[in-house]
Amino acid sequence: MTASTTPAHDAPGHATPAHGTPDHAPEHDIHTPHAIAADAPRAYDTVVIGGGTAGLSAALLLGRARRRVLVIDAGRPRNRFAAHMHGALGLDGMPPLELLARGRAELEHYDVEVVTGEVASIREVTRGLAVRREKDIGNGDGNEDGHGHGHGHGNVDGDDGEGNVVYTRSVLVASGIEDHLPGIDGLDALWGGDVFACPYCHGWEVRGRRLGVLATSPMSAHQALLARQWSEDLTVFLAAGAELPREARGRLAARGVVVVEDPAVAAESTGGRLTGIRTADGTVHPLDALLVSPALQPRDRFLAEIAPVRVDTLVGSFLQVDANGRTSPPGSGRPGTWSIRG
Ligand SMILES: Cc1cc2nc3c(=O)[nH]c(=O)nc-3n(C[C@H](O)[C@H](O)[C@H](O)COP(=O)(O)OP(=O)(O)OC[C@H]3O[C@@H](n4cnc5c(N)ncnc54)[C@H](O)[C@@H]3O)c2cc1C
Repeated sequence: MTASTTPAHDAPGHATPAHGTPDHAPEHDIHTPHAIAADAPRAYDTVVIGGGTAGLSAALLLGRARRRVLVIDAGRPRNRFAAHMHGALGLDGMPPLELLARGRAELEHYDVEVVTGEVASIREVTRGLAVRREKDIGNGDGNEDGHGHGHGHGNVDGDDGEGNVVYTRSVLVASGIEDHLPGIDGLDALWGGDVFACPYCHGWEVRGRRLGVLATSPMSAHQALLARQWSEDLTVFLAAGAELPREARGRLAARGVVVVEDPAVAAESTGGRLTGIRTADGTVHPLDALLVSPALQPRDRFLAEIAPVRVDTLVGSFLQVDANGRTSPPGSGRPGTWSIRG
């Protein structure tokens, strides 16, 4: 989301404080729209919301482009449940959090600060945006997920009684997606291990084993046909209320995929490893791994005030963008000055 491309360094009257030196909030009321100039002392060129792979990559390029950047990260990357990541060239098998720790270390060479926190809201102000953090949930020493939080906690103090506020000329949203698993007993504990979503990421490790697909929507047939590439022993289970179109059933049967009609009610496990799926009739179907398509929810509630237009898709509600990746202008209806790149 871009409001302006003028670097904060070059803004008239802007004095860049020393890196890591606390600065003080201007005495403005953040709740008064248009009251705060974005060239106030604490303005950044870009605040990146989310310090996962996308946010840190963006921060690296912005830092190298001599932009003054703040990354605010709540420290819950989507793949934190997985011990290893796959399919990333040169990094295959690396623990996901190690990749992020490396990324943060690389950012130390640039004018990029990384802080831990949860952005609660964004408000339009004169020539920029005010970004409010919910609360301080750490200062670089890690959090409940064991995710390190890097360096730089200098320029974002100034608790206004409700949280910390920073000012910026642009915001880059990289806050990712939240996965909501279907309500099947025992599934959550296995997520990121023997229960996963993407066969390209984790299918190789269970190739040729007893695989299952938990169908949650008609689209699950596609996931099952895909998963068949990794094993000839593939069973489709139905979550409560899920249906498979007749045509899809025909294609699955043609590839030797069995569909269990009794709804799945529980994932059975021993020592953290999946052992089977229990269906409503009490039968336990032995299994080594299960593919599930969680419901996807973009983590972008903090955009509510700006309210870009959304679009409902088969996999959830997302920001609507044009062919160039730009959203609608925020509430003001002012054309052309804002964009969000997904
Ligand atoms: C179990 C699992 C395993 C996976 N394995 C692989 C794999 O092996 N290979 C692969 O290529 N892909 C894999 N993926 C996909 C991968 O996780 C995503 O593609 C990747 O994480 C997307 O990166 P991101 O930076 O967009 O989002 P994320 O990694 O989710 O990072 C977003 C960050 O933004 C933060 N955030 C959210 N809201 C706020 C807020 N309001 N304020 C501040 N910060 C906020 C979050 O806490 C998080 O740290 C896997 C996914 C899952 C679920």
